[in-house]
Amino acid sequence: MSSTTIERVHARQVLDSRGNPTVEAEVFTREGYGRAIVPSGASTGANEAVELRDGGDRFVGKGVTRAVEHVNNQIAAAVIGRDATMQEQIDQVMIDLDATTNKGNLGANALLAVSLATARAAAATLRQPLFRYLGGPAARLLPVPCLNVLNGGAHAANSVDIQEFMIVPAGLPSYGEALRAGVEVYHALKRVIAGRGLGTNVGDEGGFAPDLPTNEAALELLVEAIDVAGYELGDEIALALDVAATEIHREGRYELDRRELSSGEMVAYLSDLAERYPLVSIEDGMSEDDWEGWKELTSKVGGRVQLVGDDLFVTNEEILKRGIAEKSANAILIKVNQIGTVSETLHTMQRAERAGFGMMVSHRSGETEDTFISHLAVATNAGQIKTGAPARGERTAKYNQLLRIEESLGDEARFAGWATFRRSR
Ligand code: PGA
Ligand code: ZN
Repeated sequence: MSSTTIERVHARQVLDSRGNPTVEAEVFTREGYGRAIVPSGASTGANEAVELRDGGDRFVGKGVTRAVEHVNNQIAAAVIGRDATMQEQIDQVMIDLDATTNKGNLGANALLAVSLATARAAAATLRQPLFRYLGGPAARLLPVPCLNVLNGGAHAANSVDIQEFMIVPAGLPSYGEALRAGVEVYHALKRVIAGRGLGTNVGDEGGFAPDLPTNEAALELLVEAIDVAGYELGDEIALALDVAATEIHREGRYELDRRELSSGEMVAYLSDLAERYPLVSIEDGMSEDDWEGWKELTSKVGGRVQLVGDDLFVTNEEILKRGIAEKSANAILIKVNQIGTVSETLHTMQRAERAGFGMMVSHRSGETEDTFISHLAVATNAGQIKTGAPARGERTAKYNQLLRIEESLGDEARFAGWATFRRSR
């Protein structure tokens, strides 16, 4: 027995930012404690690990009491007595216990809650900040915050098809300054939108969600807001998209601006946007099942634009391997609940890094006060994070945690800046 031996594991059902139940787990070592909450997506990839839900009437079928029971019974029995610092071993024990490829038996939400809480408990027992525990002495790179300030698609009830319009303040000298610039643009955007007589209500990730005539009109609003806030478009602040194209892909066609585009026309649409706007990153520009389209987009604009696979890769190392081999993209989105354990997430990130892929650590549209991903981004020197607009507590929790980490690192802190993106200027 050592100070880091796991003595007790307990899970309960709590709520996420959309008012849906989710799993919270607590792991108690002999001399420490860790707690974590699992997030949940709306525009999920088909190959994501399974989020176990109860069905039935309670909580509109979204209860997670079965996943909670799995933590409190089988998983607790399997990990109690093990060392919390043996993250790989603990994750593997849970993977073996589940015995499916998609974690559909015990639920990825059950496994992930314990996996995250175990890392937290180990770090706390060793009296280390989580980012330091996970990343070691080399962890000191603060990510560029990619702020989703205008929401569409599955995250809002407006007319905009593209899911996320982000501002990327990579030209500022530090994380804290970049966040400040992002906040100033967010407020300027509110004035610009209100000035046009449009609604300033927000979507699930805190970005504004006005009805607009076209998707490009959203980019124009962002350009104007950056100018109003007094920043240099392209030099200080660039733009990024998450098209979430799987959501608008039906029977081989992309439905955008009330038109139907073929895969080739979608590639042409995106590369034209990238010509006319300073877009440094396009996520899920193509659907998860349009591997040919991905390849074409990457060969066309991949030399100057980061192309991020979210639904395409679902943080899965095996699927990422195919993307690396086929040059389907040049970056990956990292969402811990797509794969379901900390170890597998880290393996996927190591694979991405070795391949020279960009890495953007990401929240989900259904989030909580948990700030694990802030630590993960610094631990892995990922260089980029997206965690919504600088509004709504579950989003600002992540940005605020990064401010604390930046302060604690002091002179050691580095800021990723433009170097994290491939762009021609
Ligand atoms: P989700 O959206 O959490 O609803 O999947 C985020 C994303 O698509 O990146
Ligand atoms: Zn996405």
